[in-house]
Amino acid sequence: MSTPVHTRIADALARVGSLVRYQENQRTLAEGLSPLQARALIVIRRRKGIRVGALAKELLVTYGTLSAAVSSLEEKALVTKYVDPEEHRAVNLELTRKGAALARRAEGWAGELLAAPVADMGQDETGTLLASLLELIRAFERQGAIAEARMCFTCRYFDPEGGRGARPHYCNLLEEPIGNADLQIDCPDHEPASAARLNDPG
Ligand code: SF4
Repeated sequence: MSTPVHTRIADALARVGSLVRYQENQRTLAEGLSPLQARALIVIRRRKGIRVGALAKELLVTYGTLSAAVSSLEEKALVTKYVDPEEHRAVNLELTRKGAALARRAEGWAGELLAAPVADMGQDETGTLLASLLELIRAFERQGAIAEARMCFTCRYFDPEGGRGARPHYCNLLEEPIGNADLQIDCPDHEPASAARLNDPG
């Protein structure tokens, strides 16, 4: 009997993930960062003012592990902490100018190896692949297994059928149709859709 499809998908994701992670780690270590520190810089850049606990959840590590990584980033003058003016006991994180420049570069490292094969696949196939991966993430979000990924699928501005032709969706914030290859993850303008829409499996 053939190996179940979910096992083969997991195998495929793990193989690509290992290669992508290896490439990212090479670039990360060359900059004197640990892989966790590099991921932390990227998330802090995207989510200004994020707290240590929320960052640990996002990166799927313990609070203690993340605290050690943040302390190291502080020592390297890449990250600073500040007390939330609206909630005095909460400590938020932000990047220094040097940290922001490094985070901008770090954002590109994971995708470097994928650039050529994705370009060869063409727009339709790329869009289908991206949409399928985002659906998978959405399923894990529903289970509470991963942090909210701020994707179009869960955004109040997203209209899945508001576009036409090759761009069948619509972003009501940008006021323009979007295709599958345009779907965003970690969008800075994301706002959660209503509970009714989030619970709609369609
Ligand atoms: S605001 Fe961002 S996440 Fe929301 S629909 Fe538009 S592009 Fe997608």
